[in-house]
Amino acid sequence: MNRQWMEFTENIKRLYKKDFVALHEPTFNGHEVNYVTDCINTGWVSSVGSYVTRFEEGLADFVGVKRAVAVVNGTAALHIALKIVGVEANDEVLIPSLTFIATANAVSYLQAIPHFVEVDEKTLGINTIKLESYLREIAELHQGDLYNKQTKRRIKALVPMHTFGHPCMMDELVAICDKFKLVLVEDAAESLGSYYKGKHTGTFGKVSAMSFNGNKIITTGGGGAILTDDEKLADYAKHLTTTAKVPHRWEFVHDEIGFNYRMPNINAALGCAQLEKLPKFIEQKRDLAKFYQKVIMNIEGVELLKEPAYAQSNYWLQTIMLDERYKRDELLDFLNENGVMSRPIWKPMHELEMFTECPKMDLTVTERLEQSIINITSTPVGVK
Ligand SMILES: *Cc1c(COP(=O)(O)O)cnc(C)c1O
Repeated sequence: MNRQWMEFTENIKRLYKKDFVALHEPTFNGHEVNYVTDCINTGWVSSVGSYVTRFEEGLADFVGVKRAVAVVNGTAALHIALKIVGVEANDEVLIPSLTFIATANAVSYLQAIPHFVEVDEKTLGINTIKLESYLREIAELHQGDLYNKQTKRRIKALVPMHTFGHPCMMDELVAICDKFKLVLVEDAAESLGSYYKGKHTGTFGKVSAMSFNGNKIITTGGGGAILTDDEKLADYAKHLTTTAKVPHRWEFVHDEIGFNYRMPNINAALGCAQLEKLPKFIEQKRDLAKFYQKVIMNIEGVELLKEPAYAQSNYWLQTIMLDERYKRDELLDFLNENGVMSRPIWKPMHELEMFTECPKMDLTVTERLEQSIINITSTPVGVK
């Protein structure tokens, strides 16, 4: 590797004042210790407590939805989101192949089948033009439901994912869902703090899911949330994620097979403190993107992934795109050896053993992107 990349790693280590810079570390410099200590001192660490409600209300308020239901992780949030919109066994659910495993797993938990769709090179979100012509070709409406003409299965929902915090083309996706009678469920796990035309991601779907895993823009240790404007669906999500227990002072009655997916109070306490810092994290990540833009500009054959013109991104994970002159793994080796932790994007879902038989459209772009994307250090830091 040449001098330019050496300088690149030096610049980053100087910025973070470290010899080894991790890909993404949580930042706890607010009221985290106070709130968590409060849980321990009062004994309210588990399944009941005021921080859960406070976190749910704070989150819903920030995003601009009526309700948020806090759960144990983002995968559980997706699972329940898909269940409450009516995804059933043997349905197909359209998802990008270029996503984290959680999206495909959540579909599978319902005995439904992931149906993989192509992404756009510029946004890494679903390619809406290709999706529309693909659906015209392979699907047909029958009594208000969309069916796959080849497999004969119902195609129930579409799950766009806002990759690394960059919003998908939501107007087009909403129009496709209207036209083809698909339920829109957003995987907004990576996009807390990202806006499409001024409207927060996760507010376009009937329901959406977020994650507060340790590497996300805010963390509750592990955690997730189901977001919706539909009060009835929110109540049902709460019910299902709290073992479907019928409220009663002392009796244990459950009216269906529920899930123990509720977020513990101690995690929500962490979340409340993190929410207070969220605006700062977003600002720092956006500044970090500008910093990277400056240092990367001088290197040939690479580009920083920038927010689409219609969007304001949280720049959750900083992303560089390599052209053909690069061998991805050589650069990964170099960066990791020189103190800048970097990693490739996920292996596309359709290439994983358990999903190779799933229906899919042409995924040439997805396959090409796999070889040309690297994520670099993204922990919020004071750039200015
Ligand atoms: C993080 C993430 C999730 C949820 O992951 P959990 O670890 O279960 O919280 C879902 N989808 C995407 C795209 C993610 O990045």
